[in-house]
Amino acid sequence: MRLWTSTFRQSQLGSLGSNYIRCGLDSIECGVSRRLPSAKALHIQTLPKTLGHSRCRPQPARQSCSPPTRRLYCNPAAAVNGAPSFAFAFDIDGVLLRSSTPIPGAAKALTYLHNNNIPFILLTNGGGKYESARVAELTDKLGVPLSEDNFVQSHTPFKQLVGGYDGIEALKDKTIMVTGGDGDKCRKVAERYGFKNVIIPGDILMDNPTIWPFSQVFTDYYQKIHRPLPRPVDLADPAKSLKIDAIFVFNDPRDWALDSQIILDLLSSKQGILGTYSDKNGDTSLPNNGWQQDGQGGFQASLRGVWDVTTGGAKLERTVIGKPHAETYKYAENVLNTYRTHLLGAGTKGKPVGRLQRVFMVGDNPESDIRGANDYESAHDTKWTSCLVKTGVFREGTKPAYAPKVIVDDVLSAVKWALKSEGWKGDVP
Ligand SMILES: [Mg+2]
Repeated sequence: MRLWTSTFRQSQLGSLGSNYIRCGLDSIECGVSRRLPSAKALHIQTLPKTLGHSRCRPQPARQSCSPPTRRLYCNPAAAVNGAPSFAFAFDIDGVLLRSSTPIPGAAKALTYLHNNNIPFILLTNGGGKYESARVAELTDKLGVPLSEDNFVQSHTPFKQLVGGYDGIEALKDKTIMVTGGDGDKCRKVAERYGFKNVIIPGDILMDNPTIWPFSQVFTDYYQKIHRPLPRPVDLADPAKSLKIDAIFVFNDPRDWALDSQIILDLLSSKQGILGTYSDKNGDTSLPNNGWQQDGQGGFQASLRGVWDVTTGGAKLERTVIGKPHAETYKYAENVLNTYRTHLLGAGTKGKPVGRLQRVFMVGDNPESDIRGANDYESAHDTKWTSCLVKTGVFREGTKPAYAPKVIVDDVLSAVKWALKSEGWKGDVP
C-alpha cells in the first residue's frame, strides 16, 4: 500500500512547507459551466498598418480546456525573436492574485506572453477543485485564455499514478482511499483523473461505526456522501476483507480525527487490509523496527506526531507532492515541454523549436517557489531561475530563507527582467 500527499498553502499569503496540506475545497463542477474569456481576453490588438494583413485578424480566445494550438504571430516582437528557448512558471497566490483579486500587472504580463507565444505554466500548491474549474476561474479573473494544458496544482501529479510511471505500478484499477476537503469532492476529482475504485474514510465509518465512535456526531454529514464499500471489512477472514492499495491526501480533511485513525490503522496493517495488524511491527531485526515493512508507503508530516507516539519513534516514510519537492518540478517541466511543443509547432520563421533551455520560476514564497526552483536539477539540462516578487509573503527588510536569483516588485517586473536577460527584442510589456 502506498500513501501520497500533496503540499498546501496555509493561507492566501501564507507560506507552506512540505508539512502542510492545502485546505479549502470548493466546487468541482468543472467543464460544465465553463465560461469563455471576457472580451478583453480576446486576441485583439492594434496592429501597425504594415503588419495588418489577413493573418493578423483578432482571434477568438480558446476555451480553457482546449488543447494548445499554434497561434498566429501577430506581434512584431514574436516575429523578430523567433521561437523562445525559455519559458515561465508562475505561482498564483501572491503573484497573480491576492485574495482572489488580480494583482496589478499580472494580466498585462500574461497577455504579453500569450500574444508572443512565449510558453508559461501556472504552478500552484493550491488544489481541491478539478483543474478545469480552477482554470475557468483564472481565465475569467485574469482575462487571459488559460488551459488545463499549462496548469499544475498540488495534486495534479497524482494523475500519473492512474497509469503508473517510473516503475511505479498503475493504480487505475486498485482500491485507493482519498482524504481532504468538503464532502467527497476529492473522490470526484480522483475519479475524473481516472481512478476506478475510490473510497473515502466516511465510507468505512458508515460501514463500521465502531472504528471511530467519536465521529457519530457527523453521521448526517457522512450519510449524504458515503457509498457502499467495494467489499466488507471481514475481520474473521482477512482474505475476503477490504484491501486498500494506496492513500492520497489531497487536502486538509474536515474530520481529521477519523481520517488520522483510519490512516494509522492502514499504515499498521498487513498489506493494507483494514482490521489486520502486521506482525512485523516492532520487530527490531527489521529496518525501521519493522514499521512500514509490510507493503505500506509513506504519509504526510502532520501525522508524524501520532505516528511517533504509536511506534516509539519509527521513521514515517511518505511521498510528498507539491512545491518545493523535485517530483512536482519534474512533472511541471514535462507539462511545460509538451505544452511548448504544441504551442510553438515548427517554430517561428521556419526555425526549429529547439530545447527548452531556461524556465523562470516566479513566486512569492521562498520556502516553496524559490527553494524548489533553486534545488531542482532537470534531466533535460533545463535551468530554473528563481524570481521572488514582493506582492505576497515578502516583507521588506527581511532576508528570504532561500535566496532567489532576483527580487522584483511584481510579476510584471519579473517578466520584464527575464525578457531583458534573454535578449528579447522589440516591444516589452
Ligand atoms: Mg504564493
